[in-house]
Amino acid sequence: MYAPAHRQAVRSRFHLRRLQLQCAALREQTKTIEPVLPQVKMNLISVKAPATARVVSNDLCLKGGVKSASFVRHLVVDVTGTPLAGSFLVGQSFGVIPPGEDGRGKPQKVRLFSIACPSWGEDGQGNIVSTTPKRVIDEFKPQKPGDDSQDHALFLGVCSNYLCDQRPGAEVKITGPSGRRFLLPLDTAAHEYLFLATGTGIAPFRGMVLELLENPAGPCRSPIHLIMGSPYTTDLLYDDLFRRLAREHGNFHYHTAISREPRPGSDRGIYVHQLIEELIEDFRPLLESPRTLIYICGLLGMQFGVYQVLATHGLGEGYLKTAEPLEGTDPGDWTIDQIKRHVRPTARCMLEVY
Ligand code: NAP
Repeated sequence: MYAPAHRQAVRSRFHLRRLQLQCAALREQTKTIEPVLPQVKMNLISVKAPATARVVSNDLCLKGGVKSASFVRHLVVDVTGTPLAGSFLVGQSFGVIPPGEDGRGKPQKVRLFSIACPSWGEDGQGNIVSTTPKRVIDEFKPQKPGDDSQDHALFLGVCSNYLCDQRPGAEVKITGPSGRRFLLPLDTAAHEYLFLATGTGIAPFRGMVLELLENPAGPCRSPIHLIMGSPYTTDLLYDDLFRRLAREHGNFHYHTAISREPRPGSDRGIYVHQLIEELIEDFRPLLESPRTLIYICGLLGMQFGVYQVLATHGLGEGYLKTAEPLEGTDPGDWTIDQIKRHVRPTARCMLEVY
């Protein structure tokens, strides 16, 4: 028979042990899950020895079709027999070398285009690859000292217009693949996803969302949110596809941030990061989850607003590393220059902007 004091001590130790186990389980639950990225193949086709791909189709992929002020196409090319076939992953890019010479008489340089299909291609075999070229149509702008300040002649992007012009059957010189950081994790079920796009930055997300939801091995059941930023509704890309996927998969949520159309009760539109801020309480569980990965693709600079919103709402941990000069400061006061110098994304926040 043990004395009451001894029984009390045993009970306390038991209670302590139970608490320790509960804490360990809680730590395990809240432990940040870093993405383990797959190994990729790189530069199997070099610029010196490009391979030949054949255009399969080239269709507008804008919601507004011919009514939009811009021209963005879903270009599908057959890479059968080239080293790219079956050797790329969604999130990677391939290169295109347009024909002809540049203004200095040198052969045109390679341009990179994001792969817009899953890793198994458009055909399920990795032989048919797609991308999302947008015609660059602009006026010349003086860029450096000595440029003619009155020169505002029409400027047409060489490679984007070349690709958008191509008909089925045309041959295109390709290189690649390239990119080893903007990838889906090996264990897709271990994560939740927030994809943030502006404009043609949607290209890799078309492939990633299809890879997650229409995987022959079964759909990923994790929460997946995609926010697409466009100037006008007519500029939305692959809109029908994302709406269909959202109807068919309860875990996939498609949001749009239209910047130049006034919203009800307002005289202005909204940017991607402003939409996150507006819906912050809806997004909070996703952003607080230690499993969540954020992918940002599109316009250079779109990441700054996202960083600020995350930090302002105490959600930056796990996604951002903030250096000492900004510690303890109000993220709402951060300047772009300070963010550039003192804020870095972690492995859970992947960035592809230019
Ligand atoms: P776009 O159709 O013009 O759409 C861009 C949208 O972003 C517009 O609604 C624009 O609003 C808005 N925006 C402007 N500044 C912003 C900011 N600081 N934060 C959030 N949103 C902002 O886009 P685009 O012409 O297709 O250009 C897409 C860019 O993505 C290009 O620079 C392209 O090089 C890049 N891209 C990168 C990759 C990649 O890295 N793999 C792939 C494809 C495309 P307003 O114009 O109304 O201000």
